[in-house]
This record gives sequence, structure tokens and C-alpha cells, in this order.
Amino acid sequence: MSIAENIQNIKATLPPEVTLVAVSKTKPVSDLLEAYHAGQRVFGENKIQEMTDKWEQLPKDIQWHMIGHVQTNKVKYMAPYVALIHGVDSFKLLEEINKQAAKNNRIIDCLLQIHIAEEETKFGLDPEELASLLHYEALETLSNVHIVGFMGMATFTENTVQIEKEFRYLKSLFDQYQSLKRSNVSLQTLSMGMSGDYQLAIDCGSTMVRIGSSIFGVRNYG
Ligand SMILES: *Cc1c(COP(=O)(O)O)cnc(C)c1O
Repeated sequence: MSIAENIQNIKATLPPEVTLVAVSKTKPVSDLLEAYHAGQRVFGENKIQEMTDKWEQLPKDIQWHMIGHVQTNKVKYMAPYVALIHGVDSFKLLEEINKQAAKNNRIIDCLLQIHIAEEETKFGLDPEELASLLHYEALETLSNVHIVGFMGMATFTENTVQIEKEFRYLKSLFDQYQSLKRSNVSLQTLSMGMSGDYQLAIDCGSTMVRIGSSIFGVRNYG
């Protein structure tokens, strides 16, 4: 099946309110163009350098989402154009995004990454860290960032009961903080679900799915 057919097939199964992020990490620009010509406008990458190279080469109406772990010293390279940063998990990183956004006269949308998986290796805030970040007095001084939602990755397992439990937990945190009143926080986006588990994620309340291999085929690395 072609990339265009894969996108059409996936889109046909998504509720209209769910955004499809086509995860194009490691894939050549020609593959992204094929997706673009099939109507796809939202792409996800996990390395800032690779995303910036692709941004330079591709049409400017693409929305670029950074879905990987972000190193503070590289924020400046994507600040001029990035549409959404999914992996924000510290105040320090928010401060740097705010600084680089201000330099570019932009307000950059961010998702807070929440640790929901069993594995120790996955990045993200635990519930206590999330609570202190969202209530941190200085948060509202960061007027060039806008926290628009949460992102999470479930445990890498075949056990759908476990995955569902983790997705439902993330959704419950998302619901819990809906009422939070901070000037630069308004939670609208819940980014959860990948090729193997996006249907389950949608059943659990996802509004944004990040799908790579089911669109572009398996990756050699990444
Ligand atoms: C690679 C990646 C995806 C996409 O994974 P697939 O299984 O290929 O759909 C989604 N989210 C993140 C954070 C990723 O790094």
C-alpha cells in the first residue's frame, strides 16, 4: 500500500476531532511530499536537526511537531517555525522555549509530557512534578509559551489491559486540570496513541494521534 493510501485509510477511521500527526522521523523528504500531496499537513519528528532540514526543503504550510526529547541548547533552531512541542517535561525547558519564542515574536504551543509507562526510561513528569509545575508561581511569567495539553506514551507491551489503564490515567489527569486557571494554560489537546495503539487511545479520549510506521512503513532505526 502507498503512503497516500495508508493516510486515507487511517483518516477514514479517525473521528473528526482527532488530529493525525504523521510521524516522519528517519524518512526521506520524498516520502513526506507524498503524504503532503495526499493532503497531510501535520508532521512529527523527534530530532531538531532533522526536522529543521526538512522544514527548509518542504512547503511552508506544513505544521511541524517536535515529538522527541528536547535538549535545551537546541530549542533555538526550531523556535522560528515549530507548531507544537510535545515533550516538555521541566520548567527549565519551558523557560528556554519562552526565551526563544520571544526572540522570534511568537507564542509557542507546548504539551507537557506525563510519565504513564512502567518503564523507567521514558521521559515525562510524574503526577507530583506535574502539580508543582502547573501551580508554580513563576509559570505565568512565561508569556511566550502556551501549554495546550498533555502527551504520554504507554508501556511497550502487548498487554492492552495495561495500555488502557495508562491511557485512562492520563485522561483523568487531563480532566482534573481542565479547571486550572493560569494565563498561559488551557488544556485542549491530549496527545496519545501510536501505530499499535491509537484506536485504544481514541477510545480513552485522545485528541491527537502520532502515527509513523502505519503510514510510512517500518523504520530502520529511531
Ligand atoms: C516514533 C514515535 C511515534 C510513532 O511510532 P509508530 O509506532 O511508528 O507509529 C509516536 N510517538 C513518538 C513520541 C515517537 O517517538
